[in-house]
Amino acid sequence: MSLTIGIDLGGTNTRAGLVTASGEIVGRARRPTRLHLGAEGVVEGIVECARAAARDGGISLSEVQGVGVGAPGPLDPFEGVIISPENLQCMHGVRLKDRLEALLGLGVVVDNDANLAAYGEQWLGAGRGVEHFLCVTLGTGVGGGWISEGKVMHGFNGNAAEVGHITVDHNGPRCPCGNFGCLEMYASATAMVRRTLERLEGEKPETSLKAEDLTTQVIFQAAEVGDDFAMQMFEETGFFLGVGLVSLVNVLNVDRVALTGGLAQAGDWIFDPAMRTFWDRGTVGVKEYVQIVSAELGDDAGILGAARHAKVKSKK
Ligand SMILES: [Zn+2]
Repeated sequence: MSLTIGIDLGGTNTRAGLVTASGEIVGRARRPTRLHLGAEGVVEGIVECARAAARDGGISLSEVQGVGVGAPGPLDPFEGVIISPENLQCMHGVRLKDRLEALLGLGVVVDNDANLAAYGEQWLGAGRGVEHFLCVTLGTGVGGGWISEGKVMHGFNGNAAEVGHITVDHNGPRCPCGNFGCLEMYASATAMVRRTLERLEGEKPETSLKAEDLTTQVIFQAAEVGDDFAMQMFEETGFFLGVGLVSLVNVLNVDRVALTGGLAQAGDWIFDPAMRTFWDRGTVGVKEYVQIVSAELGDDAGILGAARHAKVKSKK
């Protein structure tokens, strides 16, 4: 049986899955990402996690065909080098592919976590059977993975589908990327909380929401019980998301978009205004064919995409 290991390297946890050729996860492991031990500690944690996932599946690492790792960008997927992810600063410049290959004795591929989550969803989740697919993550930031003709698209240096940094308001606030009014400044969970706080302090609206401990989950609960201000914040956030999706679909010509991440869990509160805006502004002759759906695999998307990527690469 041919098995690969998929690893999702996050700022908090490192998770690994031993995955069969048909996409069944038959072994799992999870370890806290040991940022306090520096780059070597993180790398050793990945190795440990890979070993533990193999053991959990009843095999040894030497029986595995290859390993795929999804890591936060920016990174160089061709050389497997981590560049400067905000939540993994200690990994800056680490040649992760080379280090892991030396320690594991196996072929390793490293790619952007959002790309691999899209690849996982396209294999077994919301993008099954779809050749032109986009997966958008609405979390701390707004990330994206783009599949065209069934392949993950990387661009010249691995930064294609940075969907969070398309402009949705040219007069908007400056984004850390250097641009102004990026989608990420409006439609990430972090941005929604920040914008809600600004409005709470500036306009003093009538609402049950308080500045303390504000999260998108709290705003969601307020909307559910009819808080007008909370509903309005979802309306606005969904509007900006819809504006972004119109541009993305026009450029990438995908026929399915899956939304994932914390904010996507707000369901209709975020989907309805986004869809209305998409329908209002989308291009006739294109928008009729586009489906905007919820992702299906949750946290396993990245592991499955990484395992599949390792499998495809190991055949070459
Ligand atoms: Zn930006």
